[in-house]
Amino acid sequence: MLDGQTCLVTGSSRGIGRGIAEELGRHGADVVVNYRSSEAAASEAVDTIESEGGTAIAVQGDVADYDDVASMCDRIHDAFGPVDVLVNNAGITIDKKFENMTKEDWETVVDVNLGGVFNCTHCLFEDIKASETGRLVNISSVVGQQGNYGQANYATTKSGLFGFTRTLALELASTGSTANCVAPGFVETDMLEDVPERVQQKILDRIPLNRFATVDDIAGIVRFLASPESSYMTGQVLAVNGGMEW
Ligand code: NAP
Repeated sequence: MLDGQTCLVTGSSRGIGRGIAEELGRHGADVVVNYRSSEAAASEAVDTIESEGGTAIAVQGDVADYDDVASMCDRIHDAFGPVDVLVNNAGITIDKKFENMTKEDWETVVDVNLGGVFNCTHCLFEDIKASETGRLVNISSVVGQQGNYGQANYATTKSGLFGFTRTLALELASTGSTANCVAPGFVETDMLEDVPERVQQKILDRIPLNRFATVDDIAGIVRFLASPESSYMTGQVLAVNGGMEW
């Protein structure tokens, strides 16, 4: 289904990004696994994709650093040519009540979660425009829709992706390329592990389906958005949250 498509998934050494990278690889894409520091995990992700018959490379790069992203894109172009599908997945949290949040806590999260999306999209915009099947997929969060106690910085970045996605959808529309957002609920990854047990239980109580999402719950939706089947869908937010929000 994705044969001949080059897909970059930012932050795909672990968690949701890794699940997405493996899913795209399984469906025929040439996959770029990006990571910041988890080299061994990124290389494992590549091995998994290759063991399932796919093609992948691991490319180090800090999405928050424009020059790093530009150099990462050069390496991707050398290996696979232009990128058709960009999944802006890399994201971090630094959770604190707003009164305890420092300017550095704010800026660090904004620089990765929004700055990283700008950097990667800006460096690959011409590729996505020129591709007959160009796809931009931004990974937001239910927290961008609802806000969340202790996550003023994170929630702001995840809400920001809604405006960014809709605008890029308009600016890409004349080319036939699309831009969409996926807003997962709470997903079983290292990010959720960092949340204290008692807070996890409180979150669980608010999920109508009564379970956290698995990485696969999100990866399948992203594969659909990356595929030709979603070609008439643009500027949308797909909520994948067990019924928490709509
Ligand atoms: P995770 O398990 O903590 O993994 C984060 C990934 O992002 C890692 O591969 C990490 O690479 C990479 N990364 C972090 N900063 C980076 C940077 N500056 N440059 C390049 N890569 C970077 O996170 P996750 O839970 O899978 O979350 C992935 C995305 O889904 C995030 O955007 C998050 O906001 C969103 N999301 C998560 C949940 C959830 O409940 N987990 C819910 C909704 C939305 P290294 O390993 O090399 O550091």
